[in-house]
Amino acid sequence: MTDAPSYLFYQTRNPRPFLDRAEGIYMFDEDGRRYIDGSSGAMVSNIGHSNPRVLAKMKAQMNRATFGYRLHFRTHPSEDLAAKTVAMTPEGLDRVFFVSGGSEAVESAVKLARQYALTQGQGKRHKVISRFPSYHGCTFGALDLTGYDPLREPFAPMMEGMPKVAAPVTYLDRDDLSEEARGLKYAEALRTRILELGPETVLAFVMEPVGGASTGALVAPDSYYGRVREVCDEFGVILIYDEVMTGAGRTGKFLAAEHWGITPDIVALSKGFGAGYAPLGAIVARHELVEPVLDAGGFAHGFTYAGNPLACAAGLAVLEEIEEQDLIGNAARMGEVLMSELRQLMAEYDFIGHVRGKGLLTAFELVSDRATMTPLDPGLNAYDRLVNLAYERGLILYSRRTRGGTAGDHFLLAPPLIITEAQIAEMMAILRDGLDAFAGETGLRQEV
Ligand code: PMP
Repeated sequence: MTDAPSYLFYQTRNPRPFLDRAEGIYMFDEDGRRYIDGSSGAMVSNIGHSNPRVLAKMKAQMNRATFGYRLHFRTHPSEDLAAKTVAMTPEGLDRVFFVSGGSEAVESAVKLARQYALTQGQGKRHKVISRFPSYHGCTFGALDLTGYDPLREPFAPMMEGMPKVAAPVTYLDRDDLSEEARGLKYAEALRTRILELGPETVLAFVMEPVGGASTGALVAPDSYYGRVREVCDEFGVILIYDEVMTGAGRTGKFLAAEHWGITPDIVALSKGFGAGYAPLGAIVARHELVEPVLDAGGFAHGFTYAGNPLACAAGLAVLEEIEEQDLIGNAARMGEVLMSELRQLMAEYDFIGHVRGKGLLTAFELVSDRATMTPLDPGLNAYDRLVNLAYERGLILYSRRTRGGTAGDHFLLAPPLIITEAQIAEMMAILRDGLDAFAGETGLRQEV
């Protein structure tokens, strides 16, 4: 540890120890303490840390060129990564545009949709519907789509205020409907909203197929996905899947959309796409949307670092690793193991109100009463408390203070896709120890 003053800030000052090194699913601080990366950072490090094959491919590219501006040269890493991405995504998604992060990907998707509408003589289409709660990024365009008030409020007067529909948080619904019927109900709410807004003004609908930071691994009823696609088709609304968190294999398919056989019109990728080896993101779109825009004079949008050869070499090496190590298959298999562990945990701790997820994007939610899904007393500060108790014991959890939308404090467990069954057991042992300490400190009941 160093006591040197810090001139750096993020959302807050950073109280955490210095990272020394990371390998596989483990991270080590400068004092030699070991942590299981139970959330792959922020659902980023999908292939684990310090993968030697990826590093070797990056070094080889570094020795050739680390940057080549796209207006001056084409590069093989960017062309090859685009081709590999198209090969790994469902048929129909066949044009790729690179960016350096998730917010940039979401903004790019929306701007492509808008320019496509213009080529179709549909200049009135400018409203982008998203869900509440949701998270789509922190730049102004992406933030306006984000359904999370604490992040929006300071900037609300500076944004248009894009329309929202309720995210299908069906586990909180207190009606007599089946899950199937609830899924359709939420999709119908989208249809109603489009009609209210005037279909000729609605450009796109943006959704996370499995919720991330905002709704904690929320999976909608199966019926929701197909009906949303139908509703968008009915009104010519472009369907954008924000797969920044779910993409690149995290949920046990390359795109989460594949679980429901959906082909969105545009998909946003980042996080696991660069897997922490490079700041990288992409949109993947249907050529039917892209070609008219290029024919009409081009996409009026682009970032300096987009498609840079080093980031793309890293991304390509990551996708090759995902394929060669069958990490998507492993995510599906280990996801089953992890979900059954979480169900077991729910049987042991009655303050766990709900567990959910898809593949290796899973979450558990803490409540004071499971039957009514009453949140914990905010005074308990469950978020900081459990994250810190786990951290002290060597397990990194991802959480946000989310009030409104989901019932209580939810915690994401989303380890790298390389995790083994033995490592899941190791992770769960630390988590149990943390939950026992949490129960002890808060006086919450442990046994159901
Ligand atoms: N979309 C989703 C679904 C995300 O989870 C995130 C990041 N949490 C973003 C967009 C924004 O990505 P970034 O922080 O890389 O801009």
